[in-house]
Amino acid sequence: MRQPMFEKIALVGIGLIGSSLAHVIAREGLAGHVAVSTRSPGTLARARELGLGDSWHENAADAVSEADLVIVSVPVGASGPVAEAISPSLKPGAIVTDAGSTKKSVISDMSPHIPDGVHFIPGHPIAGTERSGPDAGFADLFENRWCILIPLPGTDAGALEKLSNFWQACGSNVDTMDPDHHDLVLAIVSHLPHIIAYNIVGTADDLESVTKSEVIKYSASGFRDFTRLAASDPTMWRDVCLSNKDAILEMLARFSEDLSSLQRAIRWGDGEKLFDLFTRTREVRRSIIEAGQETDTPDFGRQAVLHPEHAKD
Ligand code: NAP
Repeated sequence: MRQPMFEKIALVGIGLIGSSLAHVIAREGLAGHVAVSTRSPGTLARARELGLGDSWHENAADAVSEADLVIVSVPVGASGPVAEAISPSLKPGAIVTDAGSTKKSVISDMSPHIPDGVHFIPGHPIAGTERSGPDAGFADLFENRWCILIPLPGTDAGALEKLSNFWQACGSNVDTMDPDHHDLVLAIVSHLPHIIAYNIVGTADDLESVTKSEVIKYSASGFRDFTRLAASDPTMWRDVCLSNKDAILEMLARFSEDLSSLQRAIRWGDGEKLFDLFTRTREVRRSIIEAGQETDTPDFGRQAVLHPEHAKD
């Protein structure tokens, strides 16, 4: 039998990301032992019931003890307190990483609690769905998705290579980035689209001239695609907005300018401008499909395509 990549992996947080990691680690035999910890007894019991991991701990410090790799997958606002709680139990030489969607805030919150001799390498798997909790995970979540690792000044090359190999074994392609750039890029490709979706779905919900039943009934047109994003976990997205405030505000300002320009084109009947923009944006989607990051299906309900078991949701 193949030697596992790590003797012991600790998963702190067992929601969508943590549970998907538990599945893929088990499938690929990447750890001798997987210790799972989460904040609430209910979630921990569910993780155990689902057979996620090999041992279950109410206390995160117990889970990380003797672990060679610790993966923190909690809302970014909770990363600092989690790092503080596990700090005394981290094994010298261990790698600590996270899955948080923002990186500057996570680094400033977690770094002060990481003891000397422990390798802290923040990370962000660019893979997700609008679902959360331990039932949401599946082993293929990271397949052919990017995982961005953030080497810090003085990061040990061997530890970085080991973590890269781990994510590749989970199916990901690995890239490295500095934290500022990560937060800016993610603001446009992920954070802004979610904010726009939350906003448009909220606006439709507030409209008095269109009834709620009409919003639901006719949602097969455009609106439905926004509702998928707008169904994402409120805690996670509250934390993302608060933690990546500067980059998000910068992108929102740019977005508002472009929206005003679009509004002007519609008001003045500038069909050429509209046609040019819509042609350019169509090309962007084509490039994403060519890069293998989306399937060329007219139904954006991608769960139905990738995971038939979720098709009814
Ligand atoms: P999730 O499904 O909502 O699970 C969150 C986990 O964190 C649960 O185990 C939860 O524990 C725990 N948790 C919640 N609040 C906490 C707190 N205040 N202190 C300690 N633990 C807490 O979340 P997820 O989707 O796996 O996201 C985890 C991280 O990955 C987030 O930082 C997110 O930004 C990032 N990420 C998410 C996606 C995505 O699409 N979902 C994609 C890439 C990265 P209990 O249930 O026991 O309370």
